[in-house]
Amino acid sequence: MIEKTGVPTRTQILKEFPDLIVLKKPKAIIECYKDIPCNPCDTSCPFDAIHVPQDINQRPQINFDKCTGCGVCVYHCPGLAITVRQIKADKAILKIPYEFVPLPQKDAIVKVLDRSGKHLTDGLIKQVRINESQDKTAIITIEIEAKHIIEAMTIEVPYGS
Ligand code: SF4
Ligand code: SF4
Repeated sequence: MIEKTGVPTRTQILKEFPDLIVLKKPKAIIECYKDIPCNPCDTSCPFDAIHVPQDINQRPQINFDKCTGCGVCVYHCPGLAITVRQIKADKAILKIPYEFVPLPQKDAIVKVLDRSGKHLTDGLIKQVRINESQDKTAIITIEIEAKHIIEAMTIEVPYGS
């Protein structure tokens, strides 16, 4: 399916997630579904949690025990393939990469989209982080209902907001 539509199947998605109990702490979820010569996720992680095999074409592997959810890999990934996800009681907290304008405003309610671009739910913007080292990739922290932690992928910010 991903070859035709660019959208991974649920089976492919679930393979990249740990048991949900692990997500009580924030963890990077790497959705890099193709063999490509790329490794900034590996070289940028301050905790040595991501490993791209010696053959750089092979997909990155993550060690969830080492991942602190810091988010550094999120803005270093040129494919915008990494998010950080955490379950906190009945809420899910996502850190997503975002390269569109306008950026959302903190405390705004925005549409949260699934991987096919469909409106999944609404979310609360908790933080908008952008600085020089992020090379124009903002990290947006969103709060949504915990039941959407797997399907949520990005947000839609209305132009002129
Ligand atoms: S979130 Fe931080 S600790 Fe986890 S893999 Fe990414 S860079 Fe490493
Ligand atoms: S940096 Fe992103 S696109 Fe490149 S290998 Fe890592 S996850 Fe894949």
